[in-house]
Amino acid sequence: MLFFQNEFEYIAPKSLEQLFSLLSEEEGAVVFAGGTDLFVRIKKGILSPKLVLDLKRIEELWFFSFGEDMLVIGATNTLNELIESPIVRKLFPLIYECSFSVANYLVRNKATFIGNFCTGFPVADTLFCLLLHDAEIEVQSLKGIRKVKIKDIVENYGRVVLERGEIVTRVFVPYKGEYRGKYYRIPRKFCVTRADFGIAYMITEEEKRIVFGDTGSGLTLLDSEEGLEEYLNKKGIEEPEICLLVEKVLEEIKFQNACSEA
Ligand SMILES: Cc1cc2nc3c(=O)[nH]c(=O)nc-3n(C[C@H](O)[C@H](O)[C@H](O)COP(=O)(O)OP(=O)(O)OC[C@H]3O[C@@H](n4cnc5c(N)ncnc54)[C@H](O)[C@@H]3O)c2cc1C
Repeated sequence: MLFFQNEFEYIAPKSLEQLFSLLSEEEGAVVFAGGTDLFVRIKKGILSPKLVLDLKRIEELWFFSFGEDMLVIGATNTLNELIESPIVRKLFPLIYECSFSVANYLVRNKATFIGNFCTGFPVADTLFCLLLHDAEIEVQSLKGIRKVKIKDIVENYGRVVLERGEIVTRVFVPYKGEYRGKYYRIPRKFCVTRADFGIAYMITEEEKRIVFGDTGSGLTLLDSEEGLEEYLNKKGIEEPEICLLVEKVLEEIKFQNACSEA
């Protein structure tokens, strides 16, 4: 059972209209979906909201579809729902991998895909696949709807570019055709510098894309193996764990190149 130092009111709005009106009335209101991040922060005393608003009962946010080469993920979709989707597994393997990389089965049963990057953690797992897929975020408030490119969503550590009263309603993930790709993560407990690192790549018929991420610099999108090596040299990243992982990834990409040339 969780005990909180500060009292707060809990409301589960039934519609976006009700949600937005509550958000505009109460300055100290926050939203949550799975709650696996928010309630930990409240319990630790990092946040002390007056009102917490549950997004799960809002039917307009129960959205998951694939059509016209676009996967649309809604604010209440859990990571396990995506992992269990045959469409995601077959056509968006990196979305599958990045979702699977978060925590464990029990956490993923509650934790949402959108909640993962709304934490503002600069190397949240889902950011890697979304950047490789050129995803766009739909943001809504009383003022209307706007779109944000995934590369712009994290403003700084722990903060996303949402203004007061705004929530993320959906993510649009373009289908990239068949591709080969992989996602690797080195959690901070295994790194000397106590930072999280991740690397993902996607090789399509037309292009090669590599994303490198670390807690300090966030994610960087590169278009070649040389670009990755140059970036790591420039940053002075020499940790043995990272170098080994990069070596493995470069070997894999070399192998993929050879396969597509054969
Ligand atoms: C044991 C454990 C292990 C974990 N391991 C990992 C891990 O390996 N990798 C990782 O990245 N994270 C990890 N987490 C953190 C967290 O579980 C995930 O980031 C999860 O995906 C968050 O989703 P959620 O729906 O529970 O978010 P919530 O807790 O509901 O919300 C997180 C934040 O996003 C905001 N938010 C949520 N939805 C929206 C929305 N639609 N619009 C606007 N703001 C929104 C909330 O206000 C809050 O600030 C772990 C947590 C635990 C407890």
